[in-house]
Amino acid sequence: MHAPDGAQRPLNAASFRAHGYALIDWIADYRETLSSRDVNHATTPGAIRAQLSACAPETGEPFDAVMHDLDSILMPGITHWQHPGWFAYFPANSSYESILGELASAGLGVQGMLWSTSPACTELETHVLDWLVHALGLPAQFLSTNTGGGVLQDTASSAVLVAIVAARERATNFVSDAKGLAGANSALVAYSSDQSHSSIEKAMRIAGLGKDALRLIPCDATGSMRMDLLRARIAEDRASGYTPFFVNASIGTTGVNGFDDVGAISRLCCVQSSAKPIWLHVDAAMSGTAALCPEFRFVVEGTERADSWCFNPHKWMPVNFDCDAMFVADRSELVRALSVLPEYLRNAATDSGNVIDYRDWQIPLGRRFRALKLWFVLRSWGLVALRNLVREHVALAQDLAARVQSSSHLQLVVQPRLNLVCITHVEGDAATQALLERVNASGHSFVSHCRFGAANEGVDRYVLRVSIGALATKREHVEQLWNLLAIH
Ligand code: PLP
Repeated sequence: MHAPDGAQRPLNAASFRAHGYALIDWIADYRETLSSRDVNHATTPGAIRAQLSACAPETGEPFDAVMHDLDSILMPGITHWQHPGWFAYFPANSSYESILGELASAGLGVQGMLWSTSPACTELETHVLDWLVHALGLPAQFLSTNTGGGVLQDTASSAVLVAIVAARERATNFVSDAKGLAGANSALVAYSSDQSHSSIEKAMRIAGLGKDALRLIPCDATGSMRMDLLRARIAEDRASGYTPFFVNASIGTTGVNGFDDVGAISRLCCVQSSAKPIWLHVDAAMSGTAALCPEFRFVVEGTERADSWCFNPHKWMPVNFDCDAMFVADRSELVRALSVLPEYLRNAATDSGNVIDYRDWQIPLGRRFRALKLWFVLRSWGLVALRNLVREHVALAQDLAARVQSSSHLQLVVQPRLNLVCITHVEGDAATQALLERVNASGHSFVSHCRFGAANEGVDRYVLRVSIGALATKREHVEQLWNLLAIH
């Protein structure tokens, strides 16, 4: 189809090649020149929309016009998460390999909701997640060749939602899947630390249990859930007639990267008078990647009796968003909780019971070929290079922590075990905040904050967080950041 200006629209194979090659160049140029840009965006609310046409075009425009507006309108509104000076929130690494995997997935455009709708999509996912069980040193119950298996969710938020729904069903003998919670006749309660991610509360609300049924247990000075308080709260709830059904353990809290004692929690989940153990879910969103290195396997310690475990390759591992790897110990519980089989999805492979249909392991029906980018990264990088990436970031973080410790005006909030350094100014919150603003005004480094105070301290402090994990970050970039932090 030729438009009046002679351009081919929609793209055909020939023009797709031309624009596609140009787009790859555009991405590579962007990455190569990233360090010359300011990390943060340079826009104000509404400024981007004000430049966009009010309605979608009636007739297609040349692709070059779209690319032009990407550069001129959208780029000023981009926050550069791939920048070497990215120390905010958490890393969101997008390697070249994963970009190509994403492109291949979009090119194939398959739906992997059932094994039969694209067998390779399912089988690669199952296989690559089994690779990860071995690569991370996770226990054998998470293998697909065992009772469990892995599934790619979009995010850790979806993983915990799915886990809570399965746990709710197990706790109510799968009554509530037919009758709703009214049929369950039980006051279910869940537990997580007060430092755990907001997705736990959101999942409780979505699952119909409500946030009041989530007991937020205070942490100690390292950001680890207080076991004495957890134990006491579970006992108190039981005595009051509630049914404890779910505990979330954080392996790396978002704020200060605190680590819960998964082994001790799992013993607590299993020891109880009623027949059913409490479901233990482990959220290792960022820090799970560190388990690739044998010396950081404390990250998976105690998981032998966990019911589900998840981490985000889309954070520290260089697999672009979205990619959350979730493992379950007993896949039949998950499938029973989430499976609905309408006639139009029936097929011989499903009926045989010999295949995995991942639609039964997640909230949506449709699913894309997400495993491809994970496979591209694992194949092209290899585990050695991935381990070295983690080691490099941890070493940079430990160096920075040592400098903070020996400085007269800065303090560490917790001793970092991995790649997150949490800092306060000795003069208090206002001085810490001023320091953050100075760093973020520099253009070359960008950090974020949280508030943290252990239960026994009684007061939350404003904390400057330095998360070292971006693919492009090298020693010189941490030096640059330190030069700003070091100024009194
Ligand atoms: N859990 C923890 C500990 C996190 O730090 C985060 C994100 O920051 C999440 C869960 C949520 O991740 P996602 O965006 O994949 O839902």
